[in-house]
Amino acid sequence: MQGLMQDWPLLCHRIIDHAAAQHADRPVISRSIEGPIHTTNYAEVRRRALKVAQRLDRDGIKLGDRVATLAWNTWRHLEVWYGILGIGAIYHTVNPRLFPEQICWIVNHAEDRMMFVDLTFLPILEKHAAGLKSIERFVILTDAAHMPQTTLKNAVAYEEWIGEADGDFAWKSFDENTAAGMCYTSGTTDNPKGVLYSHRSNVLHSMMAGMPDAMGVSSCDVVLPVVPMFHANCWGLALTSPMLGASLVMPGARLDGPAIYELLDTCKVTFTAAVPTVWLMLLADLEKTGAKLPHLRRVVIGGSASPRAMTQTFQEKYNVDVIHAWGMTEMSPLGSLCSMKPEYAALAGEARLDVQMKQGHAPFGVEMKITDDSNRPLPWDGKTFGRLKVRGASVARRYFKDDTEILDPDGFFDTGDVATMDPHGYMQITDRSKDVIKSGGEWISSIDLENLAVGHPKVAEAAVIGVRHPKWDERPLLVVVLKKDQQASREEILDFMQGKIAKWWMPDDVAFVAEIPHTATGKILKTELRERFKDYRLPTAAA
Ligand code: ADP
Repeated sequence: MQGLMQDWPLLCHRIIDHAAAQHADRPVISRSIEGPIHTTNYAEVRRRALKVAQRLDRDGIKLGDRVATLAWNTWRHLEVWYGILGIGAIYHTVNPRLFPEQICWIVNHAEDRMMFVDLTFLPILEKHAAGLKSIERFVILTDAAHMPQTTLKNAVAYEEWIGEADGDFAWKSFDENTAAGMCYTSGTTDNPKGVLYSHRSNVLHSMMAGMPDAMGVSSCDVVLPVVPMFHANCWGLALTSPMLGASLVMPGARLDGPAIYELLDTCKVTFTAAVPTVWLMLLADLEKTGAKLPHLRRVVIGGSASPRAMTQTFQEKYNVDVIHAWGMTEMSPLGSLCSMKPEYAALAGEARLDVQMKQGHAPFGVEMKITDDSNRPLPWDGKTFGRLKVRGASVARRYFKDDTEILDPDGFFDTGDVATMDPHGYMQITDRSKDVIKSGGEWISSIDLENLAVGHPKVAEAAVIGVRHPKWDERPLLVVVLKKDQQASREEILDFMQGKIAKWWMPDDVAFVAEIPHTATGKILKTELRERFKDYRLPTAAA
């Protein structure tokens, strides 16, 4: 027997309809690419998104067509997203930090028909335009006054382009399982893989993200997603914020410490989210200027492990609660958030920080398990680590144009992460399975060592890789970037770590470097470091 409730498909553009009806005047503030701060609101974003939809429709973009965006977080990017969604086309966020060859590969693989581009990326795109075979037209996200001369095919300024639409248009209707958006994983080793979100999975993910023990955003919040829309849907915030009626602050192209601080301060931001490298820059800037963060209440840190010292500084020096979060492109991206269940809520000081080093617990909609290599479940004792696998309403079941089976026999996706689960359901990432250091048959977590090393007051950034060892197979090498104008010896760094970890986890050596390479999503590029140090001879290797 079927229920007798209304059929109300979970379509993403219903989110902007809701925001325009219930939170019409809520500000959407952006740092424009042209420079000045721009303010609009949800009613206006919807009005212009309808023009985008109408204009796309007139340009022949149909249900299921892919439309690329190569753009920072701004109000225009938001309008474009909802416009694309509203006609059943698919927004494809392309990460501009990828190599141009990778961008061409991804765009061709997705067969994107149009591309919306920020001014920032014109020079590089023009150089590689011949490689972007499927693109029929480029829409430059600016107005006529700022439109430069360009050789890009059928290029038009965004404001001119939507200016030709009157907005007298209705969203198309279709099934909630229709594809909505697309994002390729970085593919540091293989070719990138396309993750294809549906309207239903995006809407459910947004509801999940907003829950009190997840991001817990409300209409009283002012949300600054520093994490870009091209990095796994800016962790859902471009959909979750209008769904909940929270005000949005979009940082545009400037993600440096002073620029982010200015927005946090002038827009009275209460909630923000980004990867640790962004927060390193902000905290370094605050240390220099002595500025405080009186409005900010919560910061989500994810994408890589939040170093203990960072969590501590935010909470103790700036009175900002840290929510450590874990996820991946394949999960839309949220998988777990470290909010405090009653079992841990009363903890303070170091004991609380111990819990906050964990990546947290899964919200409704995500199931988790840890298994051995034969898919046998491992205990949730906080110590045993195994392959972390997930199943849920917004988890990928296959990649775009790829028939490879990616689920285990129970329908779980192997995340490629190695993790522990504690008795209260808190997951902690030990490592990426390919980054874990295998020493004498035992595993050493590179993440734990990195987190410890960055706690040293002179260390700006640290990476740990396994280096070949004649006796132990692999031993950890600590690669360190010192803070500006600081000097430190190998012994000084190792002494600091001594006693804080098992003796056999201690790095065998420390290499000081000027810079650590990063992936397009701001993570340490271990493959390149391993390549650079592949012939490194550890002082212990002769023993
Ligand atoms: P990429 O950035 O490589 O395109 P994702 O953003 O999907 O891909 O990265 C997902 C991976 O990032 C996870 O599988 C995990 O290894 C790592 N990751 C994400 N959040 C955290 C975290 N809080 N702590 C440790 N690792 C994390």
